[in-house]
Amino acid sequence: MAKKKTARKKPEPMLIKAPEPERRRAARIYKKLQQKYPDAHCALIHSNPFELLVATILSAQCTDVLVNQVTPAIFKKLPTPQLMAKADLVTIESLVNRVNFWRNKAKNLKAMAELLVEKHGGAVPQTMEELTELPGAARKTANVVLGNAFNINHGVVVDTHVGRLSQRFGFTEETDPKKIERDLMALFPRKNWCMLSHLLIYHGRAVCKARHALCLDDDLCKRYCSNADVMAA
Ligand code: SF4
Repeated sequence: MAKKKTARKKPEPMLIKAPEPERRRAARIYKKLQQKYPDAHCALIHSNPFELLVATILSAQCTDVLVNQVTPAIFKKLPTPQLMAKADLVTIESLVNRVNFWRNKAKNLKAMAELLVEKHGGAVPQTMEELTELPGAARKTANVVLGNAFNINHGVVVDTHVGRLSQRFGFTEETDPKKIERDLMALFPRKNWCMLSHLLIYHGRAVCKARHALCLDDDLCKRYCSNADVMAA
């Protein structure tokens, strides 16, 4: 079984609350985003923690749309960690070969399933430490699974949308995802961490796109993002 190289425990981000005015501003933006996207949810289709773990591992540097096209066949043929652990690598590769880095991802899926069976009795663990020991699962994957499969707000999922919007809304000046996550955890109450990333992702897809952000078309942006002023000038 392929062993994950980085087994050493990684330090957790230091939890220091941001100053009160910044937290109040962040809360106002959060409320507006909630009103704007009341249906925000995890875009990866799944019906149990194992399926979400598989989908999240496949989603690294790949669109959720493509992952959702690929996963139904995987979930049908290999619905449990036991079946995935026993499957030939070639079989797994044939199921995932439309996503990028598919050879590596197939290897990780098999090794992940083997470790779930060997160490966790076939259940997906519910701690950051145990999840990040699984091949193919880094902190972002663990945060997705903890937040969406188990309702555990351990941290904030920082993907490209969350990173970009956090900078544009002035939540952070950092570019490193771990530091962005730390700044978001300082600004928002723990109970909102999982939903926060969904809301930012929804706004990132609908309005604050990486290119051609629709700054002047959106009331929330006009009020809270300095970029809207720049665009209007
Ligand atoms: S004003 Fe523009 S840059 Fe700022 S959050 Fe809105 S769309 Fe993004």
